[in-house]
Amino acid sequence: MKTDKTYKSALERLSGYIRANGMRPSAVRRMILEQVCALPQPFTAEQLAKACAEQRISVGSVYNALNLFVTARILHASVRQRGRAATEYELMTDNTMRMQVICQKCGRKTDFNDKAIARLIQERKYSNFNLQHFSLIVYGECKVCRRRVAKATLNS
Ligand SMILES: [Zn+2]
Repeated sequence: MKTDKTYKSALERLSGYIRANGMRPSAVRRMILEQVCALPQPFTAEQLAKACAEQRISVGSVYNALNLFVTARILHASVRQRGRAATEYELMTDNTMRMQVICQKCGRKTDFNDKAIARLIQERKYSNFNLQHFSLIVYGECKVCRRRVAKATLNS
């Protein structure tokens, strides 16, 4: 397990989400969350399914849990850029701040860290809410795609 604290915090958020949505708690889901916390981050659904197979958890349960964890903001999902395209999942901790620029044409992503924006969001008061984490995604067009378009225009 990554850390006990990580698992406890994730479990707390999952339980809260399940209660708030009138769902039934499930032991299998808890076991899957335990496996999630034990995996190196980020991980793919395949990796999680493999770890869960050893606990005799079905692939179907793994995919259902993954979708729920993303909806419940326990996991952050993004498309892997290197190698074969696959969705990667990563645990969101209590103070995850994610800022990314994503190219709308090719999906290339770059993390950035803007302390001024982070401070602005963290110091802002959200009535009836405590800030736990946030993600900011800026969409644009990367250098490579821009160059490709310029070239195509030149050749036509
Ligand atoms: Zn691009």
